[in-house]
Amino acid sequence: MNAEILSVGTEILLGDIVNTNAQFLAKELASIGISVFRQTVVGDNPDRLLMALEEAFSRAEIVITTGGLGPTKDDLTKEIGGKFFDKKMIEDAEAMKTLKAHFASMGRAMTENNLKQAWIPEGSVVIPNSNGTAPGSLIEENGKILIMLPGPPSEMIPMYQNFVLPFLSQKTNKKYISNTLRLCGVGESFAEDKIKDIIENQTNPTIAPYAEASELKFRITAAATDENEAKKLIKPIKDELYCRFSENIYGEDDTSLVEVVIGLLEKNGLAISVAESCTGGMIASKFVDIPNVSSIFKEGIVAYSNEAKINRLGVSESTLNEFGAVSEQTAEEMARCVAKSSKTSVSIATTGIAGPDGGTDEKPVGLVYIAVFINGNVIVKEFNFKGNRQRIRERTAINALDTLRRELLKTT
Ligand code: ATP
Ligand code: MG
Repeated sequence: MNAEILSVGTEILLGDIVNTNAQFLAKELASIGISVFRQTVVGDNPDRLLMALEEAFSRAEIVITTGGLGPTKDDLTKEIGGKFFDKKMIEDAEAMKTLKAHFASMGRAMTENNLKQAWIPEGSVVIPNSNGTAPGSLIEENGKILIMLPGPPSEMIPMYQNFVLPFLSQKTNKKYISNTLRLCGVGESFAEDKIKDIIENQTNPTIAPYAEASELKFRITAAATDENEAKKLIKPIKDELYCRFSENIYGEDDTSLVEVVIGLLEKNGLAISVAESCTGGMIASKFVDIPNVSSIFKEGIVAYSNEAKINRLGVSESTLNEFGAVSEQTAEEMARCVAKSSKTSVSIATTGIAGPDGGTDEKPVGLVYIAVFINGNVIVKEFNFKGNRQRIRERTAINALDTLRRELLKTT
């Protein structure tokens, strides 16, 4: 089977947003053996959208669109999709019920234009959207399948995974079973290079690398008749990846880095506190994302200014004067001080220059120190991150957790 991806939206056409939906879908489809020979982008224009649909269906059996399902005037994908199949638009009772319930649950009144989202081409199947108001829609007729998904990735991706993937698996008469390995501390291009030979020779299972913030995922997908067969197919590839990446792999599937860290702390009966400067609470927030963490995560202090580092943490003025706030010495003291005042045997501290200003030749933007304190011993690591302020901060938070994870694996 072959498919085309049709991305709808003037924003993409003008370069205002990056077409990550097409990237996601292309990778997904490749991983289940559906060939994609073309991708198209059209603006929010009815004639050009219809023309693009006609062209795509002249070549492919499946067309997946994203965008243009919302409530506004320029959202017209479903209408045009219906027109292509000569369907009239009808109100879907179930979609209307869900739409009304969604607005009621948010305590918001529904405006007239929102009603439009419950209209679907007659005879199409509604694809539920549990993260937004615009449901998707699927039309299958005369050997052609049109799948229309919304634009926001946070809505589109779960709809693909929960509905489209099982639907397509059924079409190909195969079950697709995935196992994801999660890595930290290796760059995407380095990692891809390291598995080039595997990717080049892949048939079943396939491997798809995904980069996310400072993390990397390898999703191994096997096409099989059942779960057991899939596991057998996946195992040798997985073993090989563990062999090549060893402790860079921190977990699998839905396990997050912070959950792995919490698990290691728990196993060793250790509690943690954090002192954050450039990450401004991001690390604390990752811990608090996990329920029932209070026996492990004791406290987080955001000590951003020099005064806060002195008054809240107890970093000595002379350390700050001599070495500066962004230094190995300050990071170490921050970690020691917060562990002492919080009475925890483990702590993390971060200090760095997140930019865009404040960099010097000696201490450029992206210079970060991460200190990890475990039972009286401190190690400090220096990093030079690239990217904008948000990215530098996010990478600092992730790498702080990863540094702790690696230390815990060593010492316990
Ligand atoms: P909404 O109900 O939010 O209007 P929609 O289905 O009508 O959803 P669009 O209006 O086309 O979708 O796009 C909404 C937002 O979704 C965009 O502003 C953008 O942030 C994101 N988006 C749309 N298309 C893509 C894409 N191809 N790749 C990544 N993000 C996208
Ligand atoms: Mg819209």
